[in-house]
Amino acid sequence: MDAGDGLSPAGGLIQRGQEGRALRAPVLRGDQAFGVNLRLGGLVPWSSVDYPGRQAAVLFVTGCPWRCPYCHNSHLWAGEAGLSWAAVRGFLETRVGLLDAVVVSGGEPLAQATAVHAALVEVRTLGFATALHTAGVSPRRLQTLLGDLDWVGLDVKGPFSRYDAITAREGSGAAARASVEAVLRSAKPHELRTTVHPELLSDDDLLTMLRELVAMGARSVTLKNFRPTGCPDARLAATYRPWLKPELATELRAIMPGVVLPDG
Ligand code: SF4
Repeated sequence: MDAGDGLSPAGGLIQRGQEGRALRAPVLRGDQAFGVNLRLGGLVPWSSVDYPGRQAAVLFVTGCPWRCPYCHNSHLWAGEAGLSWAAVRGFLETRVGLLDAVVVSGGEPLAQATAVHAALVEVRTLGFATALHTAGVSPRRLQTLLGDLDWVGLDVKGPFSRYDAITAREGSGAAARASVEAVLRSAKPHELRTTVHPELLSDDDLLTMLRELVAMGARSVTLKNFRPTGCPDARLAATYRPWLKPELATELRAIMPGVVLPDG
């Protein structure tokens, strides 16, 4: 998931960068899924950043078919469940009227889209708005979920031609492009967001990515700095350096005036 998203509890933090705002509540644990067969790795009980403008609980599903070297939730790749839907559902019932929304993050939610869909339907029945964090690994599966989502946070890893190198998965660029197209076509409220590590994305890559997105009809993409927490690639974690120079910011804004740039 994107560097701005929360770490799952198994990663050792309740919410990245939200130390003053996120509720540090106990992590729910359970042994068996019930009703919805969703493999969950953890739950953040309260977040104000994972769904802009909403107070949300965040569910972290396990499993992902991609292997981005900067993934900060790589401990979820294995797909083992550590939390039951029954426990989550019971928790959410106690938050009706207190939280606005539930975000499904990961890992990659589209890797278990049928179960995610069933969970979203239950979440909506409880009266919560619904949101999804995804890298768009399957546009077809994303399409099946869009009708039951109120907001989508969609990672854009870079220019589509660079995807195979970044995700270590052949064909991932085509899937991501189709997912971006599906979200833009749906007019669903969304955020496109990109984690930037200068070893993976050059200035030219960023300029190319923005040109591609503008050509597809995107008005905005949020660029976020790489963060080393949870990164499985020690070399990448050690080689990060500031990348946003004033002249690059000017060029990026010239291509896409709505681009959101990091502070430093
Ligand atoms: S798409 Fe990449 S960053 Fe997101 S969970 Fe999978 S490996 Fe991690």
